[in-house]
Amino acid sequence: MRSTERSRIDLHAHSSASDGMLSPSELVARAAERGIEVLALTDHDTTAGIAEARQAARRHGVGLVPAIEMSAAAGDKPLHVVGLGIDPDAAGLRAAIGRLRELRAERARRIGRRLARLGIAQAYEGACAEAGAAVPGRAHFARWLIGRGICADNAEIFSRLLGRGRPAYVATVWPEIEDTVACIREAGGVAVLAHPMRYKFTATWLRRIAGRFRECGGSAIEVVLANQPQRETATAAAIARHCGLMGSVGSDFHACGRYAPELGAFGALPPEIEPVWESLPAASVLAGRTAAQ
Ligand code: AMP
Ligand code: MN
Ligand code: MN
Ligand code: MN
Repeated sequence: MRSTERSRIDLHAHSSASDGMLSPSELVARAAERGIEVLALTDHDTTAGIAEARQAARRHGVGLVPAIEMSAAAGDKPLHVVGLGIDPDAAGLRAAIGRLRELRAERARRIGRRLARLGIAQAYEGACAEAGAAVPGRAHFARWLIGRGICADNAEIFSRLLGRGRPAYVATVWPEIEDTVACIREAGGVAVLAHPMRYKFTATWLRRIAGRFRECGGSAIEVVLANQPQRETATAAAIARHCGLMGSVGSDFHACGRYAPELGAFGALPPEIEPVWESLPAASVLAGRTAAQ
């Protein structure tokens, strides 16, 4: 990623409704400052930030795509599915969010117990304090651990403690991608396989999972991401073409900072890939001042 690259469309960003550092309105204000015209708020397993983001988007003249990043699985492999243009009030989505919230809350308690057994006391309480109104996730544990000087940075925490297979990792049985995709579609949304290169799957597995995702009604895959090496973008683009998926772009913004991915800080979608945003119903992009509601 070159620092000069700028996109006016960013379809993956977090607020403090999940594990982002900015409130939904601060996030939208930052997007506006950075010249973003269309922003998707994709908090983990919650739509709690959308109402506030919508209001801010109206004030700033930013198009807001109501969205979510849902925790899911393909067999024993955890992954994330972004739902773009969802109706946050859809009954099936509300029920799914309720179940995910319980899974996350139980997982957080278990992570706390594991850390306690490793000699790190009070981590659950610490993560709850970091999370505020949100359900504590691994990023909140990470922030608390860094604050206490137990680890230097996120990379160390995930490789030593919280990453898959590490001693404080708690495996969770997330919903299968078929159920997640169906839920997003029932809520009027478009399902996007998030950050495919981050799972470190083999090429065969990735194609298999992307194919399964397409089969069950998934529409797109994230091809361009902030801080993603060019060769990974090329691989993601090849999978999109192979499986007949559209392409999405995003920063996966969580916080401001020198090394953190910034809103819109990525290049263009390769020209041969169909942009997912062109298929979003106009009504799902709640454009600021011109929107009816
Ligand atoms: P969770 O949703 O609780 O499973 O936590 C996933 C979140 O943890 C991601 O969205 C990131 O915010 C953060 N995360 C996961 N892996 C890493 C990593 N290797 N380095 C930094 N942050 C990570
Ligand atoms: Mn996160
Ligand atoms: Mn994710
Ligand atoms: Mn994300």
